[in-house]
Amino acid sequence: MTRSLDAELVLDAHARVGEGPVWDDANGTLVWVDIMGRAVHRYDPVRNDDRAIDVGQPVGAAVLRSNGNGLVLALRDGFGMLDERSGAVELVAPVEADVPTNRMNDGKCDPAGRFWAGTMATDELTRGAGALYRLDPDLQVRRMVDGITLSNGLDWSLDGREMYYIDSPTHGLDVFDFHLQDGSLGARRRLISIPRDEGLPDGMTVDAEGGLWVALHGSGTIRRYLADGTVDCIVHVPPPMVTCCAFGGPDLTDLYITTMREGLSAEASRAQPLAGALFVCRPGVRGRPPYRFAA
Ligand code: CA
Repeated sequence: MTRSLDAELVLDAHARVGEGPVWDDANGTLVWVDIMGRAVHRYDPVRNDDRAIDVGQPVGAAVLRSNGNGLVLALRDGFGMLDERSGAVELVAPVEADVPTNRMNDGKCDPAGRFWAGTMATDELTRGAGALYRLDPDLQVRRMVDGITLSNGLDWSLDGREMYYIDSPTHGLDVFDFHLQDGSLGARRRLISIPRDEGLPDGMTVDAEGGLWVALHGSGTIRRYLADGTVDCIVHVPPPMVTCCAFGGPDLTDLYITTMREGLSAEASRAQPLAGALFVCRPGVRGRPPYRFAA
């Protein structure tokens, strides 16, 4: 039987495009981004304190580093390093500098500490204009998958032998065979098809039992899928435009959920006062600590 849960408000952040939550267990804070707000946030749930750093351009994702020194970002112009103390951003690996209409979007580190992030056309319409990239710890960037339209959520199976991946307009979640040692991809296949009336697949995370939590944009729900495609749990979130989710908290039992308000009409904004806020629910499953960039 499918369980049903309601998420509760944590922070009325009013983000334009809240995205990319990642739990930093080194200091008990949640890093998240506001893509079009051009900001990287750190939220401290104990103090209920949120701090933002303006990074000067759209930022699709932020990942932690194994050396604990700042964050690595997927920026509009490519991969960059953020020094959180000074706020300085250094572009270390440009991506698609010849395609000004594209920007980087969602991203995450693999179990070996390589940073994967993809691109999308800023008009969200140009089919196949994007790609999925891999930034290695030596700061070399490689183009790994072509023909992507709106690169979005990704994560790895518990055994590290499969990579889950969402190109949103394909209305489903794919899985690649994954070779952990050299970070190469093998065969790709469709794992879960998601009917249009259930929302557009966006960000995702894998829990400690191998369940797949997928934000279904436009539906106000996060769904937990089992590997056979069965829906095991549905989390309801007030704003329809949910974007991503990640486990956090001291025991990794809090599922944090980001949302957005970009593109809403004035009337819709009034009807969705919490669009762009951060939410949480406790579904009774643990997450996994996020993988960090290995440099
Ligand atoms: Ca997204």
